[in-house]
Amino acid sequence: MTPALEKLISHFASLPAIGRKSATRLAYHILDMNDDDVRAFAESLLEVKKAIRLCSICQCYSETEICLHCSDLTRDEHVIMCVEDNRALEAIEALHEYRGKYHVLHGVISPIDGIGPDQLKVKELLARLDDSVREVIIATNPSVEGEATAMYLGRLLKPLGIKVTRLAYGLPVGGTLEYADNTTLLKAIEGRTEV
Ligand code: ZN
Repeated sequence: MTPALEKLISHFASLPAIGRKSATRLAYHILDMNDDDVRAFAESLLEVKKAIRLCSICQCYSETEICLHCSDLTRDEHVIMCVEDNRALEAIEALHEYRGKYHVLHGVISPIDGIGPDQLKVKELLARLDDSVREVIIATNPSVEGEATAMYLGRLLKPLGIKVTRLAYGLPVGGTLEYADNTTLLKAIEGRTEV
């Protein structure tokens, strides 16, 4: 194993769900690719970091100052759905059923990892809550941290006179929205309950 190859393997292995074996296979695959393809691949890694920022309203990943969901005037601005991350937002979007707005928290409260509300996009959410917002749907994942975050937000928002709901999970505990099938996800949204 040469040092350069070893370095590439360790970079691949640092990615989620990639073990040492897969990392090695990927590194050898890169070695077999032609120079142009490798360059295009490397450039796309840098480009994704340069081109993508957070929407100034909902905090989702966007290539524009205000994202497509926030600038879509046909969406219901009275309802905001709070999700953990962009992947959950994409899972909900893929249903083509939800027509309200979003807010991306960029994580969940997790004392073990030292993540409190201040590390999440909570104050950005509060800044959005004017009289026009009637309901905040909390769509964090059905994990211990997701539940803790939902409870925290419920306690924070209810005194403001806003209806706060939580998805009705038929989802397996510990699962994520991203991997839920469409029917389960749709039922979870339709059957949401007030917290
Ligand atoms: Zn947005």
